[in-house]
Amino acid sequence: MAKRKSFKCPKCGRTFGMAAHLGRHMSTMHAPKGKRTAPAPTKRRPAMTSWAPFGGHRPILDRLGACRDELAAQRAALDAQVAALDQAITALGGSVGSVQVHRGGRRPPAFRTGTLPAYIRQVMHSHRGPIAVKDVTAAVLKAGYKSRDKALPKTVGKYLAAMPGVRKVGHGVYRAK
Ligand SMILES: [Zn+2]
Repeated sequence: MAKRKSFKCPKCGRTFGMAAHLGRHMSTMHAPKGKRTAPAPTKRRPAMTSWAPFGGHRPILDRLGACRDELAAQRAALDAQVAALDQAITALGGSVGSVQVHRGGRRPPAFRTGTLPAYIRQVMHSHRGPIAVKDVTAAVLKAGYKSRDKALPKTVGKYLAAMPGVRKVGHGVYRAK
């Protein structure tokens, strides 16, 4: 898509789309030595205007303002993406393990997903009411915790005894608070 250039330099044949550009070209390339003007920015303004306070640097300010607006728009878009990812991660975390959902927001999730205490906590949260250690152990295994440890009920009992949000209500029987 060639742009039509209709202003031709009589000295070297270069063509320009705007008369002003040819004029600048003439004054920088073909003016007698000593009279050449320095290569000027595309938009030429009267000297007084460009030095005038406030009004003089308007084009630059406009361009900077446009850049700033563009960056701000990009930041807003990134913020939106980050928020969307946060939401997705939170949603996945919630569905992957209810053990990681902390109610009340008082303390952070105490146990890593997949650990025995995490399974115990999950069982205690889904079982409202008193539950015996052996039943918690069975539920933990049923929920997917892998263990062949014969002493697992004893370990579960120790965790239950020390677990926040769980209290002992009888011999080997606990319930979530
Ligand atoms: Zn020329």
